[in-house]
Amino acid sequence: MSGKQKYPHLFAPLDLGFTSLKNRVLMGSMHTGLEELENGFERMAAYFAERARGGVGMIITGGISPNLEGGLGAKLSTSEEAAQHKLVTNAVHAADPDVKICMQILHMGSLARNKDAVAPSPVRPRIASAAPKELTQDGIEKQLNDMANCAVKAKEAGYDGVEIIGSAGYLLSTFLVEKTNQRTDEWGGSYENRMRFPVECVKRIREAVGEKFIVIFRIAAMDMLDGGMSWEEIVQLAKKIEGVGATIISTHFTWHEAAVPTIATMVPRAAFASVTGRLRKELSIPTITSNRINMPNVAEAVLANGDADLVSMARPMLADPDLVQKTLEGREDEINTCIACNQACLDHTFTGREVSCLVNPRACHETLLNYEITSNPKKIAVVGAGPAGLSYAEVAARRGHKVTLFDAASEIGGQFNLAKKIPGKEEFYETLRYYKRMTEVRDIEVKLSTIVDADLLRNSGFDEVVIATGIEPRIPDLDGITHEKVVGYVDVIKGRKQVGKKVAIMGAGGIGFDVAELIAHKGKSAALDIDTFANEWGIDFKNHPRGGVTGVEPKVEAADREIYLLQRKLTPVGRGLGKTTGWTHRIALARRGVKMMNGCDYLKIDDEGLHLLMGGEQQVLDVDTIILCAGQTPLRSLYDELDGGDIKVTLVGGAYEASELDAKRAINQASYLAAAV
Ligand code: FAD
Ligand code: NAP
Ligand code: SF4
Repeated sequence: MSGKQKYPHLFAPLDLGFTSLKNRVLMGSMHTGLEELENGFERMAAYFAERARGGVGMIITGGISPNLEGGLGAKLSTSEEAAQHKLVTNAVHAADPDVKICMQILHMGSLARNKDAVAPSPVRPRIASAAPKELTQDGIEKQLNDMANCAVKAKEAGYDGVEIIGSAGYLLSTFLVEKTNQRTDEWGGSYENRMRFPVECVKRIREAVGEKFIVIFRIAAMDMLDGGMSWEEIVQLAKKIEGVGATIISTHFTWHEAAVPTIATMVPRAAFASVTGRLRKELSIPTITSNRINMPNVAEAVLANGDADLVSMARPMLADPDLVQKTLEGREDEINTCIACNQACLDHTFTGREVSCLVNPRACHETLLNYEITSNPKKIAVVGAGPAGLSYAEVAARRGHKVTLFDAASEIGGQFNLAKKIPGKEEFYETLRYYKRMTEVRDIEVKLSTIVDADLLRNSGFDEVVIATGIEPRIPDLDGITHEKVVGYVDVIKGRKQVGKKVAIMGAGGIGFDVAELIAHKGKSAALDIDTFANEWGIDFKNHPRGGVTGVEPKVEAADREIYLLQRKLTPVGRGLGKTTGWTHRIALARRGVKMMNGCDYLKIDDEGLHLLMGGEQQVLDVDTIILCAGQTPLRSLYDELDGGDIKVTLVGGAYEASELDAKRAINQASYLAAAV
């Protein structure tokens, strides 16, 4: 069956009157950091053109500010700036004239990190360091005119339209909410007044750009704030925005301050689509839904259910620029799926680093990392089929090398086979499916259940050997460490060792947290069930109280064992976890009753339990199980044996360096090395 037959809704064109979209998939807006780089426009041109070639119907750029107060380094207010953007629009239209590209206008308001930050009222957001200046009447006029001017310049730059962000805690949305809009003039007070600024903004933009230009308004359809917007207010605003000339309403589901995860991997796929579905019924213009729609079957189901006219896939387009084309050609099993980890995208945005993607290091690096066909094909052995070995093998074979991939285990994946068992990390199955399929597509010879030794490598005629053998769990040097109470995380995750009712987890890194989640968890994984997710995070999808969360208590089943998650450092437990996801793991464990303790000086283990020194006081945790999650050391004996011999040998992933290793680094390093072999 062709992709068009299998996904009839996804591949149906959308008539917008003056123009049309070739299918229902758009690449949602993501700030990548390229916007502010010196050669950023060249890199953005390559990045977006690759997605246009990959079949997406419409692209929304990362946010661009209309003026200095807008807060981003990237601003569009002059014709000179517009000329630079033409690099991007020309590249996209040259790649496929049917693909539309719209520029997002982002005025950060009180979240702007500069001294010019402005807002309806001087209310400091929880995540900002200073309060913004209150806008004067003239200031409001200026912002509105600058927004309209920005849209005109976007048109001049060759964009097919603009998206105005009216959500997430940025300027427009702060006018809507009483907490952030305390004005008493015509721009504040009643809801009619609070809506005036965003509505006026869309009105002026439409007037300035004329009729034949796409104008998308991004609305907070569920802002996740205690006391946030009510359903009636959202509908009223959407109708007004439609009335003043928006072409499309795009739904958004958060403010940056919200304490509910909305895109992390533990959020079920398409969890919020039903909210868009309700709004769609109130409007006559098309709607876009978003959040955790990462595979074509999910998108098709959302559209078929009538929940939206278009689906936004943002991070999935980082993970695989060819997602739509692969779907069209019936090659869905070749899609490199976004696992919603945020590790190389959002975590980088919020720590001022260039964005990329854990599963696709080429994302945003299209001009820097290319997999060219080799003129000198080699016979390469890759030992270890974890993320490092798999990505090395895939890239090298794609380039024309003849690759044999070995693993001692009976399945590919290395530690990802442990990660996939953690509740909330089910998306890791997709990465394993992708790599398995790639071994077939790239004609990689896979030899499983094979413990490789140096002789095998020396005697098999390989030109090069890549050692991707990963790590060994660290065993701390501690009196009593061989006691029968002590178990390793591998045995626990694989279910090979029983865990008792009172447990100490020694080590609170990523694996310590995951093991705590595993042994504390009861019932369904929230990631696989929208009702469970809603219960755990206190969301009422049915009644939609203010913000979707007001007055709703999270309901989490406490663990049926006592769990202590311990570390030696004095820093708060979990500080080293991902910037945008760490807080969700801390909250999830705390709600299950896990006790997190820092500053633990381990003394010994015996029949009584784990002896500790904490704050100078000696104490015993009378636990029946102690799980070691104390970091890892490289497993590289094969390398040491082969190094200096006749065959060129390269180390990659955990075998190269175990400290602070994660899959992002393993895949990135392997891809760059394989691109150069
Ligand atoms: P490994 O994955 O360890 O693979 C090494 C492979 O080599 C193994 O399959 C092994 O069988 C094989 N091997 C070893 N010796 C031989 C030999 N002599 N012959 C043949 N084969 C051999 N990282 C993240 O970025 N994000 C996460 O959310 C995340 N979650 C995790 C959750 C858990 C529970 C765990 C355990 C890890 C998690 N990680 C995560 C870490 C991530 O999985 C590792 O950083 C990554 O797997 C390292 O890749 P690697 O290829 O270097 O090594
Ligand atoms: P890790 O993050 O380095 O944590 C190791 C833990 O062990 C730390 O809490 C450390 O803290 C403790 N430790 C170190 N040496 C010790 C010793 N000798 N005795 C006792 N405790 C010791 O490593 P990990 O948890 O094993 O994870 C491995 C990698 O996988 C990490 O790089 C991680 O990023 C990645 N991963 C990521 C995720 C994710 O969600 N992003 C999830 C799982 C794993 P103290 O020294 O303070 O005790
Ligand atoms: Fe998705 Fe993770 Fe890649 Fe971000 S880094 S696009 S969340 S797979």
